Amino acid sequence: MSNLKNRRWVLADYPDGMPDERHFRLEDGLDVPEPGDGEILVQAKYLSVDPYMRGRISSAANYAAGVAPGELMQGGGVGEVVASNSPEFASGDIVESRDFGWQEFTILGPKNGINKVDPDLAPIQGSLSYLGMPGMTAWAGLFRVGEIKQGETVVISAASGAVGQVAGQLAKAHGCKTVAIASTQAKLDWCSEIGYDVGINYREAGDLSATLAHACPDGVDFYFDNTAGPIHDAVMENLALGARIGICGTISLAGQLDQPDIGPRYHRKILVARARVQGFLVHDFAVDFDEARKHIIGLIDSGKFKFKEDISDGLESMASAFLRLLHSENFGKQLVKLG
Ligand code: NAP
Repeated sequence: MSNLKNRRWVLADYPDGMPDERHFRLEDGLDVPEPGDGEILVQAKYLSVDPYMRGRISSAANYAAGVAPGELMQGGGVGEVVASNSPEFASGDIVESRDFGWQEFTILGPKNGINKVDPDLAPIQGSLSYLGMPGMTAWAGLFRVGEIKQGETVVISAASGAVGQVAGQLAKAHGCKTVAIASTQAKLDWCSEIGYDVGINYREAGDLSATLAHACPDGVDFYFDNTAGPIHDAVMENLALGARIGICGTISLAGQLDQPDIGPRYHRKILVARARVQGFLVHDFAVDFDEARKHIIGLIDSGKFKFKEDISDGLESMASAFLRLLHSENFGKQLVKLG
């Protein structure tokens, strides 16, 4: 469009194991198209950096179509409408969509799930975290998959992250005992500040199963599993009767997506506890998003809600910001700020 130029990240090649910078390529000087009928042209303000992107850059089968080498990296964002050919949006509107891609300008149409963002409700990047996909994930995991009840013990891995911060505060406000699992003392200090009752450093715990047993003397009623791997195995040794395990994410497997991922097997523990293990995807609960958003806004309005963001600067930092997530280097919701 006119004199505007776009920059974007494409996948350079599928990673074999853990991705690194060489698997991504920044392209410059691209023409910005005019929006077609019913479409809008949006300039990104914040791009979201999410662990699911690891699954999208693999040739292995996934729940959503992936990115092939040479194609635009997929991802959500929030930005300002700079040209509109849609009766629903005007220039200057702030919109969020999961279909931004890793780029400065994007064309969005009716198929792209465009949501108008109210800048008076919360900072606009909140639409990518607590009021967006990670917040909906936290809510659905706790209340639909976990069916948590007051007085229960809820363990959450990646507890200081985008999903974990919201899940911990919602579970605490619901009257649960909340146990945070994270990689550093600084992250656990933050978890304590936002209300988690107990913090466990999985890297320094030694015998993680024994540490969990000590922290959860009545067993774990709901495990919000954001990581898989050895943390999952340790929780499976500590299930309460009727426990639920919500398999939300498998980030500890980012370097071994296509390999067997089973640790010690605790099938007998599942049987004895009559536990339920359930994988879930946030989009399966879209019908609940209005209720979830109202619930989280209620928590914000109570004045108790706190949320940490980790913001990298400029589109050029997109690949490194993504890699930070996979190496536990982000502290809070990872975002990239543009412009
Ligand atoms: P996040 O927690 O903000 O960031 C990722 C965190 O994962 C890191 O900060 C790190 O925390 C932890 N991590 C990385 N490598 C690890 C390893 N080897 N072992 C243990 N922990 C590791 O990310 P998020 O956006 O909130 O996502 C959290 C999880 O939820 C991810 O697995 C994601 O895929 C999943 N998710 C699923 C859905 C769904 O619909 N099912 C939706 C959204 C997110 P520590 O420093 O504490 O290790």
